Amino acid sequence: MRLTDDLTKIKGIGEKTAQVFSRVEIDTVEDLIHYYPRAYEECAAPVSIASLQDSGPVVVCGALAADARVRRAGKLKIVDAVIRDETGSLKVTWFNMMYLKDVLRAGRRYVMKGKLSVSRFGMVLEQPVIYSLENYVPLIGKLKPVYSLPAGLTSKGIEKAVKEAFAGLGMLKEFLPSSIRREYRLAEYNYALRTIHFPPDKTELTFARHRLVFDEFFLFILAVRYLRDVNEVQENGCRIEPSPLVDRFEKSLPFALTGAQKRCYQEILADLTGPKLMNRLVQGDVGSGKTIVALLSLMQMACAGYQGALMAPTEVLARQHYENFTRLFAQAGVELRVELLTGSMTAKEKREAYARIANHEADIVVGTHAIIQDKVHFARLGLVITDEQHRFGVRQREILAQKGQEGSRESGQENERENGPGNDQEKDQAGAKAESLPHVLVMSATPIPRTLAIILYGDLDISVIDEKPVGRLPIKNCVIGASRRKKAYEFITGQVKEGRQAYVICPMVEDSSAMEGENVQDYAKKLAEELPPSIVIGTLHGRMKPSEKNHIMEEFAAGRIQVLVSTTVVEVGVDVPNATVMVVENAERFGLAQLHQLRGRIGRGQHQSYCIFINGSDASKIKRLEILTRTNDGFEIASEDLKLRGPGDIFGLRQSGLMDFALGDIYTDAGILKEASEAARQVLEEDYGLSREENLELKKRLDGYLTKKAEMLSL
Ligand code: ADP
Ligand code: MG
Repeated sequence: MRLTDDLTKIKGIGEKTAQVFSRVEIDTVEDLIHYYPRAYEECAAPVSIASLQDSGPVVVCGALAADARVRRAGKLKIVDAVIRDETGSLKVTWFNMMYLKDVLRAGRRYVMKGKLSVSRFGMVLEQPVIYSLENYVPLIGKLKPVYSLPAGLTSKGIEKAVKEAFAGLGMLKEFLPSSIRREYRLAEYNYALRTIHFPPDKTELTFARHRLVFDEFFLFILAVRYLRDVNEVQENGCRIEPSPLVDRFEKSLPFALTGAQKRCYQEILADLTGPKLMNRLVQGDVGSGKTIVALLSLMQMACAGYQGALMAPTEVLARQHYENFTRLFAQAGVELRVELLTGSMTAKEKREAYARIANHEADIVVGTHAIIQDKVHFARLGLVITDEQHRFGVRQREILAQKGQEGSRESGQENERENGPGNDQEKDQAGAKAESLPHVLVMSATPIPRTLAIILYGDLDISVIDEKPVGRLPIKNCVIGASRRKKAYEFITGQVKEGRQAYVICPMVEDSSAMEGENVQDYAKKLAEELPPSIVIGTLHGRMKPSEKNHIMEEFAAGRIQVLVSTTVVEVGVDVPNATVMVVENAERFGLAQLHQLRGRIGRGQHQSYCIFINGSDASKIKRLEILTRTNDGFEIASEDLKLRGPGDIFGLRQSGLMDFALGDIYTDAGILKEASEAARQVLEEDYGLSREENLELKKRLDGYLTKKAEMLSL
């Protein structure tokens, strides 16, 4: 059997089962052995029935007092039985498992492992798993894998399939170079894989897990670096001279740049005019004013005869940037041409935009993912910026950066513009070096530890905007219980009377995003009954069409909607400075960092802003939320969040985070992440093409990874 074989090669798996597996993207033998348990259950020794006390998981061993009986309760079919040992007897029930009636036999001994429920009606063992004594005894003290179960599969079934797969596969080739394994004290591959599924004890499990987490990080980092060629420092082929027009524009802005904005802009300018291509991350908390820095940079490039692109994660945000830019340009009499490109534009509009981009009638292109479509060709791309970088993947930024090269390849027909700014001589120079890549700037409000940023984005430089515009009053925050919701509504009414606006963030609908819209509508309806009828309420949610969303956001920005009931879709970037109140329902269900992002929608103008977190559950969750009332500093909040979540219990830890690793967690496994990053650098430094003997298996593995994870790398 080979890793690439499909599941039907495994003993006991037929077409049908394979199809069920395929629903959770387990198609090959390899997928299966990397389908790690979600948690482990310790098989405890049975206890005597007389000793049972509290509700919870228990194991008992005894004989069935009589044949099992079936009764009905509404639609449920319930199998009842009684198990008896030397010390007493216990009621046992199963729901909808009729076949048990024919399997269970009076007088026979069984081990039953299930959940004990203790109520005033007595004790009941619910839904236990049944073992024969011979089968159970060898399991005692061992950790039993618990798998996430796609409908149609049982944990036992998966366990069996995995066992068969290992048997069929035999020994797999180790792919890590032995020097790396030695240096980082990593378990052998076969051992690690078998142990993660069937650990003899916790110590061995930890050792095995460490190795596999290392693998995940290591391959990911190798893949990212490989894709990007970080070892090569690119020469600046789009070198420019600063334009006085941009200075004049900056002076004409309605505000002066903060010290931090100036510093950041100078750092960028030094890159654009320097010998090396820019690869820079701008990190600034929400509301720190990243957009204007982006605009000044785009202008510099445009004035030198290059095009620039700004990619935003949502339509609403892209449109907002577009409108902001055109407005500022109009006010200052700047004649640069800004183009909007989003998915919801009509085919005709898009075609026209493509044409203007391709023949350089557009200087600055603002858009969503639509910018990286195949049909978009730039005449002469010099700078690409991604806003809210954490929302994009490595790959998407890559594609955008490559647009520069692709555009210039076709630039034989380079279009000279007649009356655009920039001087011709510079254009010709740049034209001669048409093969150059554009500068790359990424902006993010999410605090990412530096080590991680470098892993993700390569060897980039970081500018930090660590200062808010002056005159901003810090947001006033409070956490209240649901019983005081009315007070919050009164507060909104008061603010609206003063001419301000408010956001109400609706509780999340767990599980079903289909419910999202309904939920927001229902909430808005209820809210309308509480607020004076003169207040206009709008709704916004992820299920709406982009054009509807844009419309609502425009109405809100223009002040025609005073209260916007929304899901977290407003989380990224939206800027309506007149909004001064945010009420977050069920705040306890959100992560602290996300709440901070949400809160960043207010406190953007000169008026005092207020954020009200409604805690919908018990008071115990308040402590966590209070961190938000104590500080407005996004970095501090992120690290508190981390501390609170703690290192987590590795047994059963599977967090979906920035990147979805099956086992690894970039925060709690930060140590392994760092080692994997070092190891990757080491390996690539010594043998960039991975062509040496000791790296051949690794190369194979990496190639497979790149093919399979192409999607993930574009996250
Ligand atoms: P973010 O960093 O979250 O992207 P924005 O760029 O959207 O922040 O800026 C937030 C608000 O602050 C915008 O309304 C913007 O016009 C304003 N702003 C930016 N820089 C300054 C400044 N130096 N002084 C005053 N207001 C500013
Ligand atoms: Mg922003």
